[in-house]
Amino acid sequence: MIEKWNEYFLYKNGELFCENVSLKEIAEEVGTPFYVYSKKAILDKINEYKKAFSEIDTLICYAAKANPNLSILKIIKEEGLGADIVSGGELFKARKAGISAKKIVYAGVGKTDFELDYAIREEILAFNVESKEELIVLNEIAEKRKKKARIAIRVNPDVDPKTHPYISTGLKKSKFGIDKDEAIDAYKFAKSLKNIEIVGIHCHIGSQIMDVSPYKEAIEKVLQLVEKLKKEGIELSHIDIGGGLGIRYKPEDNPPKPKQLSDLIVPLIKNTGLKLILEPGRSLIGEAGALVSKVLFTKNKKEKHFIIVDTGMNDLMRPSIYNAYHHILAIKPKDKKIVADIVGPICETGDFLALDREIDDLKRRDLLAIMSAGAYGASMSSNYNVRPRACEVLVYGDKFKVIKEREDYHYLIKPEEKALEGEV
Ligand SMILES: *Cc1c(COP(=O)(O)O)cnc(C)c1O
Repeated sequence: MIEKWNEYFLYKNGELFCENVSLKEIAEEVGTPFYVYSKKAILDKINEYKKAFSEIDTLICYAAKANPNLSILKIIKEEGLGADIVSGGELFKARKAGISAKKIVYAGVGKTDFELDYAIREEILAFNVESKEELIVLNEIAEKRKKKARIAIRVNPDVDPKTHPYISTGLKKSKFGIDKDEAIDAYKFAKSLKNIEIVGIHCHIGSQIMDVSPYKEAIEKVLQLVEKLKKEGIELSHIDIGGGLGIRYKPEDNPPKPKQLSDLIVPLIKNTGLKLILEPGRSLIGEAGALVSKVLFTKNKKEKHFIIVDTGMNDLMRPSIYNAYHHILAIKPKDKKIVADIVGPICETGDFLALDREIDDLKRRDLLAIMSAGAYGASMSSNYNVRPRACEVLVYGDKFKVIKEREDYHYLIKPEEKALEGEV
């Protein structure tokens, strides 16, 4: 039996705790399933990043899409970080949490007119622009508002981050960014637009990156562009290298630390005079979180043993859509181990959390924790099969707090209820 998963999720007297709080006690109080996050894990990771990049002027913009819970964003704000957003909704939440617009960067291939206008009015630090057409529209809207929109162009450096194809974003064939060969033209065009102010350059090569060398390759390419732009009379003040550092999903995984990234890339950036922007999402919050669930039934078929739990692809989509591995721990480990599929209640064969997994011989009402679920867990959840979303809990020391209430049936029908009154 393992004694701990990491510094934040560990066994005490044979039971899994988050920091100094028993997960069984939380389950008794809030029910299951629930997401649980360790505040200390988040703070430690933030400090690890800050320390690693202390040598150069750096702004860390947390990628809100990894986990946009307001209380998480509030921690981000209190630590002085900014936010990387991909929608108007994320802008709204980041501002609500008190994150200064001066520390917000905005990426995404499909920003609506409404979203562009909203972010212009908020005067965010930079739009990470993904197409020439976006520049035109941004300029028009900024002109109407009598404001200047600050921009960086998202360039596609065409490097392979060697991760899952769905989360590789910096290859030529990807929908993201502007190809590096066309970037100079795009910058010249941006310069010709009256209500656009060029401030930086952006790239983001992918996610769950386990080897930092593609970052070096990407940054070298981006810095070549910076030099070319200088010759064209276009001076930048920042380089934004996106997010993407991987985390530990399997016990044997050994993801790169922020220090490994900074050792590799700070020397490249140090003498350029550029401010560095980082956009970590998964690596700040992923390992700080777990999804706790309860066994509903077990079922023995000729081919397989199934453990059916009260959470599934509606709460945690990653196993279903990326075939992602999440380690699963029994809250109270058993001596007997079995091999089973751990599946959810959703009416889809793709609704599984683990396949052919060696696991404790769990029975009805036993609790389990799906680890490294802090990022792209709650934020990707849905109401499929009309299941209320799980509640979310923040643990700090020996205390915990519900930071998102469990949804209920009335909440779910609210947007549809009014229509029942009319015809049809
Ligand atoms: C998703 C995303 C990030 C964060 O990626 P992680 O792998 O979670 O660190 C950063 N920047 C952009 C533009 C993104 O789309």
